[in-house]
Amino acid sequence: MNFKNIPGHTSQIKEWTSLVNADRIPHAWLLLGPNGSATLPMAIALANYIQCEKKEGDSCGVCRSCIKSSKWIHPDIHFTYPVVKKDNLKREDTISKHFSNQWRSFLTERPFDGIKSWINYISSTTTFANINTAECNDISHKLGMQSFEGKYKIQIIWMAEYLAKDSNRLLKLIEEPTDNTIIILIAENQNKLLPTIISRCQTFRVPKFSDQEIGSYLDTLSLDASINKEEIKHLAFGDIEKARKLSENTQTKYADMLLDWMRISWKSHPQGIFDFVNKLAQNSKEEIKMFFEYGLHFLREYLVYLYTKDTFKMRLSDREKNTALQMVKTINVEKAQALSLLFEESLGLIDRNINVKILFSENSFQLERIMKSK
Ligand SMILES: [Zn+2]
Repeated sequence: MNFKNIPGHTSQIKEWTSLVNADRIPHAWLLLGPNGSATLPMAIALANYIQCEKKEGDSCGVCRSCIKSSKWIHPDIHFTYPVVKKDNLKREDTISKHFSNQWRSFLTERPFDGIKSWINYISSTTTFANINTAECNDISHKLGMQSFEGKYKIQIIWMAEYLAKDSNRLLKLIEEPTDNTIIILIAENQNKLLPTIISRCQTFRVPKFSDQEIGSYLDTLSLDASINKEEIKHLAFGDIEKARKLSENTQTKYADMLLDWMRISWKSHPQGIFDFVNKLAQNSKEEIKMFFEYGLHFLREYLVYLYTKDTFKMRLSDREKNTALQMVKTINVEKAQALSLLFEESLGLIDRNINVKILFSENSFQLERIMKSK
């Protein structure tokens, strides 16, 4: 991940590379940007640039250091990210390095994805993730050592809001850094960080992508000719993770699933429901969670329409809008809210490992009851 792999952001890249070239690198950076923005890729490109041996506006991509960075194995670039409990380890002993293989494949496959996607990537059963005390101790330990190769040791801390209470432990490191140490904190929500941390960092805002930049990103993917890039740009609204999902057609798949499910539940035919539930249950847990998240998104946009009667305000594709308009006769505001609640509860139950077939069978009856209620 080098700067050239990130669409746009020319002014930030120019500013940051100038700081490096002039040897005026802040020792503590705070990169702020929303989900689906380039905060993490920009941090990685910056770290790679600092370490590159033949840099010129961007990392060279071929030096010893760049080869290691490109494989996510540079010994002087460390990553910290929220994790969940792992297998036989105690929760308080589980730290980022226990997930380093998954982290590398996540960065390779979905470099622009956000925290929800990461948690789904490493866990199908729990949503509780954090950066714990053991991890903070590990950071101090790593940064206390000599750098292995280059001049600098770089520590990237992704989603610093997950540091919670333990972030105090990092203050000293940020305040009195060991020689040639650079800490790059990444966060979405400044209000969830300790003010003392913010005040010790130099803050850089990473804006969300423009429609044009999303377009350039889509051009780099080998997409089916039937994919409507203009529509994706409009729906993604600067969120590159969303653009990826839309381009993979998952959104359309979930939209069809939702519509089928509602039709079948409405008909209330036991065999039909049974067959459909069996088909749904073949999806992975991550997909089922994404399906319910999609359902919630759809209902939110549907409610926007019910309140405003303005189809333009719905951030849905034309096909989804048609579905929404067909629902108006049967699903009013109260019913849409009841469905949202049902989907939210289902997400919670999936996290608690409920049997998916039982969940969908039970929900099919609830769906019918809500849709047919007066
Ligand atoms: Zn290089």
